[in-house]
Amino acid sequence: MQIRSWYGLPGEIEVENELWHLVKVGGVPLNHPPVVNLILRRGLPREDRLRLSYLHEYGHFQTLPLAVAHALLLLWARRRQQRTILGWLTWLAALAVAHEAVWELASEGYAIAHDGAAYRESYRKTPNPLALVFWAVMGSLGIGLSAWLLRSGSRAQG
Ligand SMILES: [Zn+2]
Repeated sequence: MQIRSWYGLPGEIEVENELWHLVKVGGVPLNHPPVVNLILRRGLPREDRLRLSYLHEYGHFQTLPLAVAHALLLLWARRRQQRTILGWLTWLAALAVAHEAVWELASEGYAIAHDGAAYRESYRKTPNPLALVFWAVMGSLGIGLSAWLLRSGSRAQG
């Protein structure tokens, strides 16, 4: 399905099945692990899964500038030169995880905002105890790691 973002880039969403989905921006596929579909959509009826998968992918597409800004902020915050390979690898891993977590949160937030009452209704009909775990883990990874990366960057400057 062809889509267009608010920032003007054309894109494409393919929801291939309940598990795998793909969003392309200007022909470039944005790959990310199907963690949301594995955890958040567990047990939901097929039509709910497909509707929410589509909205979530659309969310990835629409929140791309936010995800890029977040990654740039963390890159910018890294003023300190890492002295060790391990320091670099730790920083890189933390950046990748924080970026992924923030983007998933933003995309799912987009899905919630656009699905509105239907979203709550789907989860009321099919309660998912893992949803709470998802929000807790993604929230602490996204916000916690970002804060840590920003802090450790600015602390090293002084
Ligand atoms: Zn996602």
